[in-house]
Amino acid sequence: MSDTAISDAQIWEAVGEVADPEVPVLTIADLGVLRSVRHEGGEVVVTITPTYSGCPAMDLIRHEVELTLNHLGVEGRVETVLSPAWTTDWMSDEGKTKLTEYGIAPPTGKRAVGGPVSLSLTIRCPLCGSPDTTELSRFGSTSCKSLWRCNSCREPFDHFKAI
Ligand SMILES: [Zn+2]
Repeated sequence: MSDTAISDAQIWEAVGEVADPEVPVLTIADLGVLRSVRHEGGEVVVTITPTYSGCPAMDLIRHEVELTLNHLGVEGRVETVLSPAWTTDWMSDEGKTKLTEYGIAPPTGKRAVGGPVSLSLTIRCPLCGSPDTTELSRFGSTSCKSLWRCNSCREPFDHFKAI
């Protein structure tokens, strides 16, 4: 059994820096995709929860986490946990700020537990902040985002869908 000097917290910090391929300004720690890091039987187990099922990004994230473990020189594996299901509520406030600065409207509001998602949410333009926006398409550049346009500055923008 190898005895590494690296703590779970250090591993968390390193793998938490893995970026989301969809939105490179966000890390998996920002997204809340990174769930846990633990030692188990001499190896490190990193647990991640996928975001949108339609996102091929998860394979890339998994691969990047494995590469990071290799770089750290630790024996480990990545475990994908589907329950509890990821929701945009898990995204950190810092992540939402980064998203806005990147030009994508962040998910808004809290998802009602067990209830329907509120349809009255206002999506603010990430460019000028105007609440006067229109959804152009339910699917933007990827299935995780929808395409919107601001009626004030006339600019189209992506909205990270709340689930
Ligand atoms: Zn605008």
